[in-house]
Amino acid sequence: MADNKLYDLLGVSRSASDNEIKKQYRKLAKEFHPDKNPQAGDKFKEISYAYEVLSDPKKRSLYDKVGLKGMQEGAQEGGDDFFSHLFGGGWSGMGPHRKHRGEDTVHPLKVTLEDLYNGKTSKLQLSKNVICVTCGGKGTKNGQPTEKCHSCNGCGIKVTYRSLGPGMAQQIQSQCGECRGEGEVIKEKDRCPGCHGKKVCNETKILEVHVDKGMRDSQKIYFRGEGDQQPDVRAGDVVIVLQQKPHERFERNGNNLYVKHTISLTDALCGFNFVITHLDKRKLLIRHPAGEVIKPGDVKTVAGEGMPIHKNPFEKGNLYVTFNVKFPEKHFAPEPVLRKLEALLPARPVFTMPEGEHVEEADLVDYDPNERDHHGRHRGEAYASDDDEHAGMQGMQCVHQ
Ligand SMILES: [Zn+2]
Ligand SMILES: [Zn+2]
Repeated sequence: MADNKLYDLLGVSRSASDNEIKKQYRKLAKEFHPDKNPQAGDKFKEISYAYEVLSDPKKRSLYDKVGLKGMQEGAQEGGDDFFSHLFGGGWSGMGPHRKHRGEDTVHPLKVTLEDLYNGKTSKLQLSKNVICVTCGGKGTKNGQPTEKCHSCNGCGIKVTYRSLGPGMAQQIQSQCGECRGEGEVIKEKDRCPGCHGKKVCNETKILEVHVDKGMRDSQKIYFRGEGDQQPDVRAGDVVIVLQQKPHERFERNGNNLYVKHTISLTDALCGFNFVITHLDKRKLLIRHPAGEVIKPGDVKTVAGEGMPIHKNPFEKGNLYVTFNVKFPEKHFAPEPVLRKLEALLPARPVFTMPEGEHVEEADLVDYDPNERDHHGRHRGEAYASDDDEHAGMQGMQCVHQ
């Protein structure tokens, strides 16, 4: 089964004479020269290569014997980089697609903030393809060779041409359906009983994933070469991606931890003690002295109680506490008590009524966000008029406006 690619490239038959080949090359080289046809990509290089081989009797006869794939293999053994240079990336049509390294297998691993603080070992079960031990990845029984796929002539790619007009054709490449791009087929009766000709078997494997202290959300843990195996391909990695579940109390930013804490107004003014249970279940007593007033939204630092630093877990970030101050409910004390309280608190600023100016009295009522648009506007208009003191009248005015 002969490889016809280079003849096809020049659009000549296998029996073409040197003269025909030269003529055809000149014609195509003109057409696909990068100066004239920059869209053609590597086409010009491919044509030039085809001519280089077919115009040299020694190279042509070698090509007729072993095809491009054979020449490519020979070239690689000889250390010649020409093929990978020309056909490596741009042109996958030259033989079955051979990858140097398999794809990575990515698995998410859900962890808690406690896991990231304390460290943890997780066992992860995964299934992967391994080279069949029965046939050593050949896919055949008793070491028989595989057969070249007749449909694609062993190159894994089918090439069809679409005519674009007289003397012009577009080359369309697609994966061979018979061999799924492998370039070879194994007859039913020759298939390895271990893998049924697939060359690989599925295997379940347990991986021990060490989540170190201080690791972060989205951090990747690599298991080199633990990915799916394929014949002639270096296996890819298994990549574990940590996904931290949200914590109900703590938030993390870098090496720091953030926690919210609500204290009473009395605490805020008169000092307090409280206990924080940390991510390793240690109890931290936080003391705050009387008189060191805390305002709503104030942030205080507990140094060295943040997250451990990855690979240096004896060092830690900080813990930041954001305070919310809960004020007493309405009418928490009778008026005489409030007057006593006022006497204890810092004096309020003195109020002076503007003199010789007209002052309107306005009420503060509870804010209702849902009614703002409707009533707020009308109430404002009603108060703007001096005569309207009667609440019922405001309602009437609304209707008539
Ligand atoms: Zn095929
Ligand atoms: Zn097998």
